[in-house]
Amino acid sequence: IWNQVLDRLKMRLNPTAFETWLASATVQTFQDNCLVIQVENPFILNHLQKTYYSLIVEEVETIVGYSISVKLTTSQEQNWKIVDKDEYNYSSNKLNNKTDKQSPKLSQLNPHYNFSRFVVGPTNRMAHAASLAVAESPGREFNPLFLCGGVGLGKTHLMQAIAHYRLELYPNANVFYVSTEQFTNDLITSIRQDSMEHFREHYRTADILLVDDIQFIEGKEYTQEEFFHTFNTLHEAGKQVVIASDRPPKRIPSLQDRLVSRFSMGLIADIQVPDLETRMAILQKKAEYENIVLPRDVIEYIATNYTSNIRELEGALIRAVTYISISGLSMTVENIAPVLNPPMEQISVSPDVIIKIIAENFNVSIEDLKGSSRRREISLARQIGMYLMRQHTDLSLPRIGEEFGGKDHTTVLYSCDKISKLQKKDWDLSQQLSELSDRINIASRNQE
Ligand code: ADP
Ligand code: MG
Repeated sequence: IWNQVLDRLKMRLNPTAFETWLASATVQTFQDNCLVIQVENPFILNHLQKTYYSLIVEEVETIVGYSISVKLTTSQEQNWKIVDKDEYNYSSNKLNNKTDKQSPKLSQLNPHYNFSRFVVGPTNRMAHAASLAVAESPGREFNPLFLCGGVGLGKTHLMQAIAHYRLELYPNANVFYVSTEQFTNDLITSIRQDSMEHFREHYRTADILLVDDIQFIEGKEYTQEEFFHTFNTLHEAGKQVVIASDRPPKRIPSLQDRLVSRFSMGLIADIQVPDLETRMAILQKKAEYENIVLPRDVIEYIATNYTSNIRELEGALIRAVTYISISGLSMTVENIAPVLNPPMEQISVSPDVIIKIIAENFNVSIEDLKGSSRRREISLARQIGMYLMRQHTDLSLPRIGEEFGGKDHTTVLYSCDKISKLQKKDWDLSQQLSELSDRINIASRNQE
């Protein structure tokens, strides 16, 4: 019976939800009109009871054809809990309550940051399950949910996955994802424009408020003050708050005690560095989405060399793939090794090579690069050229200025700074830079 029930549930639920909550559920006993289902741990048990109980009962009764009592239990607990299905007013048809209206809120989210692209492993299992639980029943289980973990380990991805999933279930939900920086900026703007009412109204109508990188609230007294009130209003109204930080609340310097205690009253779920197997699974999944075929030893090689940050892991994969496609070599460990672990004795790169590659890539003339035109395309190309020259050679700022037709060293410094900041925000630019870097390396190697 249970397998049939599972099959039906599988069809009704989102695959990630099914995997997380139900795939491991088994029948413990079935006698006297009472079906006892066993799940892995109390955490799953709790969520199933709160969110899926009536759905499960419904499917069980459909299969057996008569009314039956269903109990959920976990092996980690001695006594099973008896759940009265009337306690739970969850109505399953809400799941199908989609409308065609595209939410404007979606535009602020990275479409790739959803649950189906998120690879679950031992070091993020808890954070993932908690995020999913929050998306399904906001304000009910963990409020706030505090996600904490080092840079590039998936906090932003999970937060946005919560937002996507909630909006998928309820397209009209007020789901707000903001960085702490944006929250602060909104606050400052509304103070300046004397529109605090507007600000408060906006943030306090959220059904789910997700605030990313809260560690940046450090030292901002006024933002802390306002966030405290926003938090309380939402929390008291039973609305969900999700916060991400690179460290636990207690370790954020000069965070007001009252915020530390608010942040700690729900669940603090931490994400640790993924193990090798998970890293390989992440690369594999990424490659599949990008339609790239990768030999297993290449995956293993990259995963072995990039251990502590998933963004860098993905970056390495992209560099390898880009290099292979530019160079026309085949995808082997031997061929990608040089771009992944640049040898210490860097090949010497001549400034001319860089200028030539920049000119070709941006379709501007070398004279223009060395000239003084301020046309946007030209000056951007020039700035990128200076930045790359700084990266690839030991030339001093004044010497780089000379290579670009006698520019002042402050101009060079300004350009390098600007590009370096831009590329942190602009994914396309950073892709483009790494592609240009690869070309420069290839051209220089061929010259030697
Ligand atoms: P953080 O916010 O913790 O610094 P991000 O959420 O920005 O990290 O993640 C960095 C990159 O790694 C993103 O491209 C994200 O999609 C990817 N990533 C992180 N964790 C996973 C995971 N478990 N599965 C797949 N991709 C992941
Ligand atoms: Mg982040």
